[in-house]
Amino acid sequence: MDSSEKKQQLIQVEKEIASCQLCPLYKTRRNIVPGEGNPHAEIMFIGEAPGEREDIEGRPFCGPAGKFLDLLLDSIGLQRADVYIANTLKCRPPANRDPLPEEKSACRTYLEEQIRAISPKIIVTLGRHSTETYLPGLGGITKLKAKLYHRPNGLFYFPLYHPAAALHNGGMRQVLEEDFAKLPAAIEKVEAEISDIKTENIKQDKLF
Ligand code: URA
Repeated sequence: MDSSEKKQQLIQVEKEIASCQLCPLYKTRRNIVPGEGNPHAEIMFIGEAPGEREDIEGRPFCGPAGKFLDLLLDSIGLQRADVYIANTLKCRPPANRDPLPEEKSACRTYLEEQIRAISPKIIVTLGRHSTETYLPGLGGITKLKAKLYHRPNGLFYFPLYHPAAALHNGGMRQVLEEDFAKLPAAIEKVEAEISDIKTENIKQDKLF
C-alpha cells in the first residue's frame, strides 16, 4: 500500500467506527477513539480501551497513562509522531470497567483493518486485554512480557505491562521502564528475522 492508500484506508476505518453499532458502547461514549499516529509507523501500540480523557478528546492515551507512555517513548528516542497508537476498544466502557469479550471481538475487525493498513514491523500489546487478544492461551502478561512472538499470521508481537497499571506501582513502573528499553533490540531482531524469512531460513510460525 502506498502512502495515500494507507491514509485513505485509515480514514475509511474511522468512518466505519463512527457509524458502528456492533456493541452497546456507542450509546454511552462521547467520542470514538479510533487511534492516531504515523501511517508508516514501524511500531504499533495497542492498549486496552479509552478512559475518560480519551472519551472527551477522541484521542488515545491523552490522560495520565498517555503522559507516561510519552516518557517511555522519549526514553528510547521516539515521539508519538513516529508510532501508531490504538486500543482493543474504540469506545469507552462505562466507568472504565474491563472490556467484555463480546466488545473485544466486535471491535477487532477495525483493529485488523488498521494493522493491515499500517503494516507495522512490531505490535506492542499493552496490558492483559490487548495481549490476550493477540497471544491467546499462551499465559498471563507477567509470563509473556518483554519477549518477542512471531505468530502464524506473520506478525511480530512484544507484550508489555500497561502504563496505567504501572503508573502508581513503583515496582511495576521500574519493570516497564526496563522492558521498554528492550524494544529497540526487539525491532532489530524482527528486522533480522524478516530478512531470514525472505531467504526462507526460518519457519513462518516460529515463536521465540
Ligand atoms: N488506557 C488505554 O488502554 N488506552 C487509552 O487510550 C488510555 C488509557
